[in-house]
Amino acid sequence: MRIVRQTWLVLSVLMAFVVRQIAVAVPANTKDGRQKEEERILDAVIVGGGFSGLTTAYKLRKKDILLLEKEATLGGRCQSGSWNGFHYPKGTEYIGKPEGGMKRFFRRVGIKAIPVPPPTDGTAYQGKLYLGADMLGYLNEEEKRSYYRLNRDLTRLNKSGVEDAIFWDQEDLAEYEAMDTVNLGQWMEREGYSPLVRKYVDVENRGLFGTDNANYSLFYNVPEMAFNMPFEKTAGISEVYSFEHGMYSVVEAVAQKIEGKYKTGASVTEVKVNSEGLAVVRYLENGKERKVKALTVVMCTPAQVTEKILKEGISPNARRTLAGMDYSKYVTINFFTKNRRLEKAWAVSCVDEGQVVTIYDVIRPQVEDGYQGKSIVSVYMAPEHAYDTAFLQQTDQQLLDNAYRTFNRYFPGFESEVLGHDITRFDYAFPVFNPGYSQKVRSLYNDPSLRGPVFLAGDFMVYATVDGAMISGNRAAKGVLRYLRGKK
Ligand SMILES: Cc1cc2nc3c(=O)[nH]c(=O)nc-3n(C[C@H](O)[C@H](O)[C@H](O)COP(=O)(O)OP(=O)(O)OC[C@H]3O[C@@H](n4cnc5c(N)ncnc54)[C@H](O)[C@@H]3O)c2cc1C
Repeated sequence: MRIVRQTWLVLSVLMAFVVRQIAVAVPANTKDGRQKEEERILDAVIVGGGFSGLTTAYKLRKKDILLLEKEATLGGRCQSGSWNGFHYPKGTEYIGKPEGGMKRFFRRVGIKAIPVPPPTDGTAYQGKLYLGADMLGYLNEEEKRSYYRLNRDLTRLNKSGVEDAIFWDQEDLAEYEAMDTVNLGQWMEREGYSPLVRKYVDVENRGLFGTDNANYSLFYNVPEMAFNMPFEKTAGISEVYSFEHGMYSVVEAVAQKIEGKYKTGASVTEVKVNSEGLAVVRYLENGKERKVKALTVVMCTPAQVTEKILKEGISPNARRTLAGMDYSKYVTINFFTKNRRLEKAWAVSCVDEGQVVTIYDVIRPQVEDGYQGKSIVSVYMAPEHAYDTAFLQQTDQQLLDNAYRTFNRYFPGFESEVLGHDITRFDYAFPVFNPGYSQKVRSLYNDPSLRGPVFLAGDFMVYATVDGAMISGNRAAKGVLRYLRGKK
């Protein structure tokens, strides 16, 4: 069986190579440029220009590639706006301190991460703000002990290899299957952490991943929560980083490096693998249908979108897995204000504010200490639980009323100081890491139909963060290079 598969693989790669040579030899004076484009056979088409697609494209930039992005701008869930000389994030805001491959990547594309000035964390609870070194002031002594115990427990679990298995050693995921069947909410209750600490973690998870404790696997929560829980004693140290123009600097820098090799406003409608083993990608550009062929295609769209677009080329098992990956919804609102009202912390977690989960002093890395003038403050709003699909159906006014209720409570008169706003809705905000998720990752990781000509990337393949998306893009690009080498 294995020999048959290998023979088939060698034949299809050889066939693709021959076809490519013929196509490359098509005279340049074909009737029409468009037809020429359709005859050309690229090394790779990359579908989707978020962090995973951009990383893939950067890694493959010396090859004959084309990245297709449906929106007018690259970046996916990382988008940026500007107002009054400030930039502001509409989605992705920060990363942890870049290390290893990520640090090298940023150096190569010519950007340097800068720490967000501390203190970064704060808490809003029952109408009072707890900022900087007082960030845990909302907990009584017993609750604080519970909080510290939780952090110790999560750190211990993380060091037992969880983070490495999720990010780096996916072949080891099977070892953690038992931990991945555990529901975080039930685990915290069983372990006896205080109700307020459990509520805080729920709000953090909804803020970070649009997912409540009850729909979250303990296993997948460990790396983020072990890193994310703030402490009074580290209030003066920044653990969060961004760039000169926020995270959008990464998008800008990579876009420069792949200049001429991407198209925006190009919405892919269908990907098939033809009888010659080539990927045939159809897309709409300015209302016109276009087609491009390539030796490989890397799908860098959310799992469910990928499943809809990919008509052929993957196993039924991979298709089922992709279709079964759920996404939570999310909304961000940036408010442009007459005065700066939040100054003593960068991110404030709102423990008892319903859909309002985090407030950000967006301009903090862009101004001197003590700046008081015009400002931008953003509010991140999450569904009550991961499967709350009605969340995005709220009107702008309903979302604004919700946000104002919280702001007016903590900053009296806030609404009257607002000069404008920008609302962003995310339909595919975060893959839901519910119990058993590692099995889905493993089944994609081990699926032979995803080793060419079709490859997958996206945060859902690793973890719902920038580094997760970048690692997946890097891996997909390596797979493409291996596949292309195989035909020589
Ligand atoms: C509000 C919010 C805040 C976040 N904050 C952080 C943070 O601070 N730090 C962090 O590490 N992570 C954060 N994340 C998570 C992080 O943004 C994601 O994990 C990461 O950006 C995912 O990248 P991706 O390439 O996998 O997907 P995406 O960014 O979703 O990229 C997919 C791309 O495919 C495109 N596409 C879709 N359909 C088609 C089609 N038919 N044809 C062509 N293109 C198509 C989309 O337009 C999109 O550009 C945040 C997410 C959200 C929603």
